[in-house]
Amino acid sequence: MSAQSSMVNGRDPSGIAGQALAQLGIYQQLDNERDSLIQVSILDIITTTTTIIIIIVVVVITSFSRLSDTCDGVSTMIQKINGDAKRLLDLQLDLDDQKASRMLYQTRTRDLENEIQRLSSRLNSGSYVVVLIDGDGAKFRDEFLRDPEQGAVKAAWKLKEAVKGASFGLDIPILVRVYANVNDLAKSLRLSGVIDYDESLRTFAEQFTNTHADCDFINVGKGKENADSKIRRLLDHYYKNTQCQKIFIACCHDNGYLHDLRQYAGDANDKICLIETTPAEPNFRSLQFPILRFDHVFRSEPLNNETKRGAQVFPFRSRSPTQLIPGPIARAIQASYFPSESISPEPQEQRGSTPLTSSIPVSPVQMVQTTNNLNTIASDRYQSASSPPDKSPAQSQVFARSSNVISSGNGGTSISYATAGGTTDHQNVTVKLAKPKKQIKYAYYNEDKYRLDSPTQHPPRTPAQATYQNKFQAIKPMVFCNDHYLKGRCKRGVNCDKEHEVELTIPELAIHRYKARTSLCPQGPLCTDYDCYLSHHCPRPACARNDMCPFYHTANWGDLHYTKEQLQPKTKWAEGDDFPEYL
Ligand SMILES: [Zn+2]
Ligand SMILES: [Zn+2]
Ligand SMILES: [Zn+2]
Repeated sequence: MSAQSSMVNGRDPSGIAGQALAQLGIYQQLDNERDSLIQVSILDIITTTTTIIIIIVVVVITSFSRLSDTCDGVSTMIQKINGDAKRLLDLQLDLDDQKASRMLYQTRTRDLENEIQRLSSRLNSGSYVVVLIDGDGAKFRDEFLRDPEQGAVKAAWKLKEAVKGASFGLDIPILVRVYANVNDLAKSLRLSGVIDYDESLRTFAEQFTNTHADCDFINVGKGKENADSKIRRLLDHYYKNTQCQKIFIACCHDNGYLHDLRQYAGDANDKICLIETTPAEPNFRSLQFPILRFDHVFRSEPLNNETKRGAQVFPFRSRSPTQLIPGPIARAIQASYFPSESISPEPQEQRGSTPLTSSIPVSPVQMVQTTNNLNTIASDRYQSASSPPDKSPAQSQVFARSSNVISSGNGGTSISYATAGGTTDHQNVTVKLAKPKKQIKYAYYNEDKYRLDSPTQHPPRTPAQATYQNKFQAIKPMVFCNDHYLKGRCKRGVNCDKEHEVELTIPELAIHRYKARTSLCPQGPLCTDYDCYLSHHCPRPACARNDMCPFYHTANWGDLHYTKEQLQPKTKWAEGDDFPEYL
């Protein structure tokens, strides 16, 4: 019985327990596997979730940033739109303003056009052609001058017709201005047999002036305001005057006009026409102005008593290779009126009243060149050659003559220009031994184109005053030849009736030159001679001698005392140059 009771349902309980335990172990293993699986899954889930969250966060952040950018863009756009709207408004205002301005300007333009039309019609109604004639050189035909009453009328009429024909259809008034020194011109015409009496030319001039209201034959006399200076001024005046449409100028006989005409050469307005009477000086052709001939009005040949102008204008340059180069204000006729003897007057005798104190130069002109080394040599030579003061005049003359022969063997001596005065015996005098190099010479002119002189100073009180005076007395009745002593050459050579032989020392030459400067040059303010040793205006710095001064009432030029302004040099001409330097 107990064995049977230990059986359960016919099976051994211990077997069942073993089976149950095994089953339990399997379950436990499964549980463990499940747990580990669950743990792994949870980890996975956590990881995945975290990743998702991170992604979401990133996406959200990115979205926010994009949104913010978009917001910024929108705001900028709004600002831009606002700005554009404002600009548009401004532009609209500007446009309105411009429209108003345009209308205003259109109105003004119309007004101005009307004004221009009115003025130009006024201008045209007052426009004219002018004919300027230097009557001293451009002479009417003989037949007109010989019959002054009728001839003047015919000459005026023919001249106007000729000018009208050459004015290229300009049907406007023609003003004719003839300027001449009637007295001298009449004399010249009479001497060459064109007219019988001087009076004929005066009658001609009167008739010419009376025949038309716009024809004038003007007598300018011999003063500073002579024909060429008048014409030069009028040329400038008419050239600038807009109502003057054309200028016909008869001046081709005188190179003195070249300088003034050159400044208008090349201008596009073709305002100036030259009238050729006697054959034009070659330089006029180079100016490119039209040159017309009115041979039925003017004389085409010079008068019998007129010579070639080159020789007249440059009387001192007969040997100079530059004699045909035009001078600044050369004038043919004027020169021909002076007899050749008067060209080189001897200096006035030294006056007892001449002050011996040195005067201070006030003129700004300074042309003096000094070469001290040469001076010293030359001075020594001169001093040794000249006689001591205690020798008799006769002795000194003999001595000097012999020394002159010796010095001529060295090629002679040449005394330069512009050596007037001097504070010491040696200053301001340039002496060249043997063959001198060519020294450039200058001439200065003021605003009125009048010659200006270098200042002069009284030579100092030295023994030379006495020795010069002795020599001066010894050669009497002869006088020292200015050309020989002051220019270094005398064109009269052996035929000269003045003293050439007596040797003068440097200080004596300075005294002689100073004396020469007290004389008026016959060419006066128009002198173009670079070597001229005479004065062209009063040489005293502050002359108070009034009518005691020889420059006070000059026959040809009137008063030659200049103001400080008139003493200002405006042009500087170098010898041989065609153009001056403007100062
Ligand atoms: Zn001489
Ligand atoms: Zn002179
Ligand atoms: Zn004076």
